[in-house]
Amino acid sequence: MQLQDFPEEIQGYLVPKVGGELVYHCLGCHMEYPVDQLLYTCPNCGSVLMMKDKEFERLKEVPGSLWRKIFDYRKMLNIDALKGIFLYHEFVAPIIPLEDIIYLGEGHTPQVMANESLRKKVGVDFYFKNDGQNPSASFKDRGMASALSYINYLVRRRGIGDILSICASTGDTSASAALYSAYLQGVVKSAVLLPHKKVTPQQLSQPLGSGAQVFEIPGVFDDCMKVVERMAETYNVALLNSKNVWRIKGQESYSYEIAQWFDYDMTNKVVVVPIGNAGNITAVIQGFLNFFDTQVIECLPKVIGVQSEHANPVYRYYLEPDVEKRVWRPVVVRPSVAQAAMIGNPVSMPRVIRLVEEYNSKAEEKKVFVVEVSEQEIMDWELTANRNGHIACTQGGESLAGLVRALKEGIVEKGEIAILDSTAHVLKFVDFQNMYFQDNFPPEFEILPKAELKNFPQLIKPESLKVVPEPGKQLSPEDFERFVALTVEDIARRLNLKPRE
Ligand SMILES: *Cc1c(COP(=O)(O)O)cnc(C)c1O
Ligand SMILES: [Zn+2]
Repeated sequence: MQLQDFPEEIQGYLVPKVGGELVYHCLGCHMEYPVDQLLYTCPNCGSVLMMKDKEFERLKEVPGSLWRKIFDYRKMLNIDALKGIFLYHEFVAPIIPLEDIIYLGEGHTPQVMANESLRKKVGVDFYFKNDGQNPSASFKDRGMASALSYINYLVRRRGIGDILSICASTGDTSASAALYSAYLQGVVKSAVLLPHKKVTPQQLSQPLGSGAQVFEIPGVFDDCMKVVERMAETYNVALLNSKNVWRIKGQESYSYEIAQWFDYDMTNKVVVVPIGNAGNITAVIQGFLNFFDTQVIECLPKVIGVQSEHANPVYRYYLEPDVEKRVWRPVVVRPSVAQAAMIGNPVSMPRVIRLVEEYNSKAEEKKVFVVEVSEQEIMDWELTANRNGHIACTQGGESLAGLVRALKEGIVEKGEIAILDSTAHVLKFVDFQNMYFQDNFPPEFEILPKAELKNFPQLIKPESLKVVPEPGKQLSPEDFERFVALTVEDIARRLNLKPRE
């Protein structure tokens, strides 16, 4: 639709104008720094940073009801830059002009209602929000779209050039970073660090295909993270991990989209996300807070973070009910099928601690919870979901297992509606499905496949067939007829089919 065809009272708001005053805000010493450079930690005290819009109050001058109309009408506006996470430009990164925004098709992922059979099995109504349907097949694209748009803005407006982006990754960050950097080739070169043999073959193929320099490092993600952190301190590189708060900004769009999907009515809603480095849950909480503070939504949904027993530092931290007695202790991770969340020392933990406090206080009740699930539950629920028409990855299975656990513990009740983050596409993690089907998980995973969830291909090759089709070779008409007839017979027998009357 053309601008002049929208209602007049909305026209002036539809195309966002550059505005706001973003600053990095230190969680430790509360110093603020201008965003004309990339900063990851506070130069004064070393703590992680948050992003603050010093002119956030101006967003409150627009009534919530008008914001809702702006976002809904804006969806009909055909401007590339506003098709993805920047639909919420004023809330994501208002300093970035539309011309500098990188859009590769991220965001606005579908929310798919579970079918009746699965809803019954779980005991509550729920949706999967399929963030695996982003361009590099994980939610990480939301944050890369904002981080790379910011870098593009720095390059174009501030004359900074020849940037090398680096990241440590459990697989999906590097896939996404390499994709967005490839789009910006000539401006950004990318290098990614992966824990050797701790990412799936699909995830390894992604940055290779995008032309990034790929380095495999012994150890697990936490070890890789230390290496890139040291590199970012020592050399002039752009760190694309979620320590970089520009990533968080884009990922907040996940919450904005959920709100919009429900016409901004968040009553009785429960949002479930897996926790790894804790960037995603930081963004989800911050996103809902931003919409709540500006009255775009009038109620804060429950947020449930899920961790595997094999990588559970956040769960352990919140086990202690007494806030004063809580102690933050990183853990040593064990192998997990939720490999993208297999992190023992999440970088965003200080952000989580701060935001959970603010969230519960604004909601005037406890609304953020963390639950723990077993590896077995993750696999069983992933496979069960996908047998009911979903495309959940292992972390999506973790979300569903977490919902089931939360119901059991009384954190979620009947009548509530859950939205589960399937953070990546099932195809990225298909090797875990294969290990389950073939019953060859190494023992440390502690997973025993259930017969009813297994599935195998069946090779049809009737013994009496002397010749079968092969590429480049044509069978005689008689042999071919025999091949078709015997193959049909064999399949029909296995499927127990009755001939047509
Ligand atoms: C990165 C990732 C996670 C974990 O998100 P954090 O922000 O690190 O907590 C979960 N699932 C998938 C598929 C991921 O790629
Ligand atoms: Zn500081």
